[in-house]
Amino acid sequence: MMPPPIHLADCVVPDDPWLDEEPFHGIVKCSCSGTRFNLLYVGQLRINGDRAVVTQVQNDGAWYYVIRASCPKCGKRHVLYDKDYHGWNGFVAYDVEQRRRPRPADAEFRCLKCNGDMHRIRLHILSEGRADFIDQSMGNENSQFEEGDWPNAFGSISFDIICVGCDLQTSDWAGDESM
Ligand SMILES: [Zn+2]
Ligand SMILES: [Zn+2]
Repeated sequence: MMPPPIHLADCVVPDDPWLDEEPFHGIVKCSCSGTRFNLLYVGQLRINGDRAVVTQVQNDGAWYYVIRASCPKCGKRHVLYDKDYHGWNGFVAYDVEQRRRPRPADAEFRCLKCNGDMHRIRLHILSEGRADFIDQSMGNENSQFEEGDWPNAFGSISFDIICVGCDLQTSDWAGDESM
């Protein structure tokens, strides 16, 4: 599978370390070895029965989408995704003004079934691959990118979560197309 984007390099473990351009599948694991996290988000929580989905949210005329995982063991906060910095739209075709806007405050996610605040996280990332990245974003000499950046310009990301307290699984709890 593909290597993880650089912003996740220190906090994910791939299911299979083989490096090619196939989709990335793995778990979030803190550098302290913790695998249980408090989930924080800047987004809109939508609930349907026992199913929760976090989508982009509009605030003061701008759209935001940030997913963070905070490790209760060591206190480290990992930004798993911010649409203005990560993926094709955030890494390659980013909007400088939008990046400058302060992110609205995080909300904390709690399990819909047991109200627990600790979850394990799996993530999935798809990329168009190295050749496409070079073709689309390195066409001129002034390109600020390097060939090795291709995993950073991924096309989509999604997160599945499992509640530590009651084992409730939520596939596609959060995710975004970034192309
Ligand atoms: Zn930790
Ligand atoms: Zn639960």
